[in-house]
Amino acid sequence: MKYEPVIGLEVHAELLTKSKMFCGCEVVDSITAKPNRTICPTCTGQPGALPVLNRKAVELAVRVGLALECEIHTESIFARKNYFYPDLPKGYQISQYDQPLATDGKIRIETEVSPRRHGDAGPKDVRIRRVHLEEDTGKLSHADGYSFIDYNRSGVPLLEIVTEPDLSSPEEVKAYASKLRAILRYLDVNSGDMEKGVIRFEANVSVRAAGSDQFNTRTEIKNLNSFRALTLGTEYEIKRQSEIYERGGTVEQETLGFNDATGKTYSQRGKESAHDYRYFPEPDIPPLVLEQSWIDSIRASLPELPEAKTSRFIEQYELKPQEARLLTSEKALADYFEGVVSKSKSPAKTVSSWIAGEFMRYLNDLSIDVTNIPLPAEDFAKLIDMVTDKTISGNSGKVVLGEMFRNGGKAEEIVKAKNLAQVSDAGFIQETVAKILNDNPKEVEQYLAGKESILQWLMGQVARATKGKADPTVARELLVKSLEAKRK
Ligand code: ADP
Ligand code: MG
Ligand code: ZN
Repeated sequence: MKYEPVIGLEVHAELLTKSKMFCGCEVVDSITAKPNRTICPTCTGQPGALPVLNRKAVELAVRVGLALECEIHTESIFARKNYFYPDLPKGYQISQYDQPLATDGKIRIETEVSPRRHGDAGPKDVRIRRVHLEEDTGKLSHADGYSFIDYNRSGVPLLEIVTEPDLSSPEEVKAYASKLRAILRYLDVNSGDMEKGVIRFEANVSVRAAGSDQFNTRTEIKNLNSFRALTLGTEYEIKRQSEIYERGGTVEQETLGFNDATGKTYSQRGKESAHDYRYFPEPDIPPLVLEQSWIDSIRASLPELPEAKTSRFIEQYELKPQEARLLTSEKALADYFEGVVSKSKSPAKTVSSWIAGEFMRYLNDLSIDVTNIPLPAEDFAKLIDMVTDKTISGNSGKVVLGEMFRNGGKAEEIVKAKNLAQVSDAGFIQETVAKILNDNPKEVEQYLAGKESILQWLMGQVARATKGKADPTVARELLVKSLEAKRK
């Protein structure tokens, strides 16, 4: 039988506030800060310590809710989710339960039109079930037979974003996760720094007979902390469950871990259900009541988001959807593109091709973040214009770009220093053409006998002899003219 996956994602994202969710402790970098540097009675769960809600965290959460087109509830309730764990000293987490901050949103995703195993390619809306506020836990680590606990992260504002079970392939899961990360970065509410654990995924996975609308038992995979783990974990789980059904077995509802090294999921515990957490309203925090005018002012401050920007780029700059999506995948990249376009005399399409090609390659090769591009937009624009107006060849342009990335400097200076200026002076090029035709009589004969592809080879010889400086249009013209002259 053919099976299709049904997947819902729960995403936890830390919010970029200065202080924690319920106390004044500073939020510090979880990797570099000295352990237990920013802790107090509240975020270490001392008896009698009282929580005070962080207004900025609420504002950032509302930003996300609005960007995901959710309904924002003017009254929401904090609840205690009770469980015991060493990284949660209170014995409960303050979260939201039956009255969350925001519900019923959506994210538009797009998957490639290519042979795929599951689902359909193209655009798709993934429904967001809820967006709620909670607090992060401390961090455990284990070494040399000891366990260590760092409470710096305890009480950091955390947003949970839960989808409906609308995803139907690992590709869609990846597309959703990257789109959500992009939106959080656009909104300046999260750094997107996955290695630091500021975004973490949980995937709920079930499979069913292809075409069925029944929902089968699901498993929940925890600790998916990279796009790679998320994709591999869901792939593995889809396969595992399909094989169980194939054998006539039943899938147990359980919570799974994911092992990065083996690429396999493993059972952690039977799934607890809501009543195991004994949720009840947090008695130390009153209902969160928001004024509609405050929500409206936050809405007015939202930036242009990836979907809108993509449509605008396609329209305004006449880009292909694929090009526009690459440029808008990061706000910083989109801003950079528009910066270059505004400084450049070349068409936007030309700028887009430069960015999509060599430029992205250098960013990747040199591990440069798009928020930290070392090349001023003005300088890149100048370089592109020098190629467009044929001051230098396209190949020389790439050499200059590499130089600018590695050592800085302006395009004109590098062109001068490396003597890369293209020569369209017919006299100089004609000399080279004459010499090449003289040195290669056999090829000239072949050309005259009708083998026109030889022209390309001869062009290559001219480029080589002039170190790429000969204007190819002029060179081709002179070559053809000289060759034709030999017919008489
Ligand atoms: P809980 O709060 O107990 O974790 P929910 O029912 O609220 O569970 O769902 C959590 C996530 O699981 C949601 O993202 C939801 O879309 C997803 N989900 C629910 N049922 C299924 C199913 N049968 N298969 C896959 N995912 C599911
Ligand atoms: Mg869950
Ligand atoms: Zn504190």
